[in-house]
Amino acid sequence: MSTLRRGRHFYANPGPTNIPDSVLHAVAHTSIDFNDPEFFAVYQASVAGLKRVLRTQHEVFLYTASGHGAWEATLVNLCSPGDTILMLESGYFSESWASMARRFGLRVETVAADWRRGVDLADVTAALRADAGHHIRAICAVHNETSSGMALPLADLRRAIDAAGHPALLLADTISSLGSFDFRMDDWGVDAVVGGSQKGLMLPTGFSFTAASPKALAAHAKASLPRFFFDWTTMLQRPHRSFTGTVPTTLFYGLAESIRLLEEEGLEAVFARHARLAEGVRRAVRVWAGNDGPEFFCLDPARRSNTVTAVLMPEGMNAEPVRRIALERFNVSIGGGLGRLGGKVFRIGHLGDLNEPMVLGTLAAVEMSLGLAGVPHGSGGVAAAMAWFAEAAASHG
Ligand SMILES: *Cc1c(COP(=O)(O)O)cnc(C)c1O
Repeated sequence: MSTLRRGRHFYANPGPTNIPDSVLHAVAHTSIDFNDPEFFAVYQASVAGLKRVLRTQHEVFLYTASGHGAWEATLVNLCSPGDTILMLESGYFSESWASMARRFGLRVETVAADWRRGVDLADVTAALRADAGHHIRAICAVHNETSSGMALPLADLRRAIDAAGHPALLLADTISSLGSFDFRMDDWGVDAVVGGSQKGLMLPTGFSFTAASPKALAAHAKASLPRFFFDWTTMLQRPHRSFTGTVPTTLFYGLAESIRLLEEEGLEAVFARHARLAEGVRRAVRVWAGNDGPEFFCLDPARRSNTVTAVLMPEGMNAEPVRRIALERFNVSIGGGLGRLGGKVFRIGHLGDLNEPMVLGTLAAVEMSLGLAGVPHGSGGVAAAMAWFAEAAASHG
């Protein structure tokens, strides 16, 4: 049954995310020449803000493309045909990035991992030590694997790479972590950072970017994969030091506002809010897991993501009816399983412009939908989340 949608549509996918009203207003800007000084000032200020969120002093290249474009841009600007990259397996997104690399004629070595646990960092050190000839050009890591709800500790990864004394570039996909939990490009020695507009930055889909370290720029100078739209060398000669073709101007009025929102709250407070909301979701999942109900997909509690929780259905049960009921009956959109996880998991996104009652609304819709779909589960998940949010509110005065 399909029903008319009334009230606020609850969008609890892990991306795109809710767009704050003030950002919506900001992007509703009339066309302006992207070389107009008035726009250029907004552009420069918002890119400077983006660098503060990335915690970097380095160059940032922006593209009119979704995150996939930034993946591609990063590979073609840093690699030559036949180069080897080391992909750390995490889930659907590491698999897709690896497929893209193969299509460009790169050799992909994989540090294999169980998607429910993620890579063992000792295996990364071992793979790098085994590469005595230093053929591996780049190590690719997904900071937050959005398909499985798993975060990779990048500071620890940096140490694992340093332990091997390997000179490969470190590439990190931060599309679903940036602006939501801690990421420090320069401190952690990340050479190329991939990000997008529509997740933690709370913007419409439309631009993505790569931040590039001096070491990455030096590698770029020697990299020979064909590129045109994404060519950093061409971009560096343009006033915007980014973009081939028209700059999506409206998105930068939005970016200026989203940076203002993040900094008004304070990045540390933004991260604390995400941690608190994520814990509320986890309290609910723990309760639902009773009575042979659905359980955490990510088995390592230390790696459970603060932006998305993937919930594994009981053996033999499909997640799609739960998602359909949540959408059709309660106007709540949750994420489905990607790739080989299709039908096996549903995903609750908890990043961006979000507060406790919004999370509780989503959790209530999911709990009701589990019941309506005939999925066994422990009841009282929402109450457990409420108790946690109340406890957290009390302890923070
Ligand atoms: C969303 C996402 C992508 C893909 O980004 P698009 O904007 O959909 O192209 C890549 N990696 C991760 C980790 C993501 O969450």
